[in-house]
Amino acid sequence: MQRLISYRHEGLSQWGVLAADGQSIYSAYDLEETYYIPLAETLEEFIETGEEGLLNLAKLLESNGKDKSVEPIPLSEVQLDVPFHPRRNILCVGKNYQEHVREFDQNKNAANPAAPIFFTKATTSVIGPDEEIDSHPDVTSQVDYEGELGVIIGKRGTDIAPEDAMKYVYGYTIINDVTARDLQKTHAQWFRGKSLDTFCPMGPTILVGGWPAPFTIYTRVNGHLRQEGNTSDLIFSIPKLISTLSAGMTLLPGDVIATGTPKGVGMGLNPPEFLKKGDVVEITIDPIGTLRNTVK
Ligand code: MG
Repeated sequence: MQRLISYRHEGLSQWGVLAADGQSIYSAYDLEETYYIPLAETLEEFIETGEEGLLNLAKLLESNGKDKSVEPIPLSEVQLDVPFHPRRNILCVGKNYQEHVREFDQNKNAANPAAPIFFTKATTSVIGPDEEIDSHPDVTSQVDYEGELGVIIGKRGTDIAPEDAMKYVYGYTIINDVTARDLQKTHAQWFRGKSLDTFCPMGPTILVGGWPAPFTIYTRVNGHLRQEGNTSDLIFSIPKLISTLSAGMTLLPGDVIATGTPKGVGMGLNPPEFLKKGDVVEITIDPIGTLRNTVK
């Protein structure tokens, strides 16, 4: 298991690997320069190198500390960036946890969708950890959070069978599928309510390699626990989502699938509680980390 991370250090944008203690980063550039094994300049490009890139990275980390040594940079000295900038829209799944279907439909007997509900978020909505979510007061008065597991596709594929789907998963991250509920309702298509600038916080890391699935998702607003869900409760599993999406439609390395949110969104509270300026939203999925963003 490794956690890949993008960051700024001494004025430079870089990427690297989080050390096992989670408190420092091995810079990909430093590893490359020390051991002459090529990686990639950015995490976008590294994801496209697929398994070969991950093998090179494993070799570098294995060599490190034997005859030469790359010192990790303390996390406290860097500013985190979005792990990578997706090249096309984030692929999202609506109503994929039964309890959330019920709160969304405000009906405790609401039926689960018969097929996955897909929509997308514009690439321009993506922001990184610690960046601010714009409350867009002139456009919406109902900004809501949705803590979700993001699945990152590692290789190009079409018509992927469910039993092969996990071979196409590169890794995992956290997505906050921020939503303007009023716009979601006004326009039949969810795209606009989901795509306002800053409405797709993503990060802080990309988890690759062996991971302990299923994942538990915790969302806190100003420290108060609002969502606690487990990916074992997904109505449509990750293999099912990949196989359905890829049927007749090519998936590409770097595609991100936001797998849906568990219950506990602000619109589901009685009365509803939407986000306001100064609110801090934290989504934690271990061992990916905590994605923290403040509303402005
Ligand atoms: Mg969502």
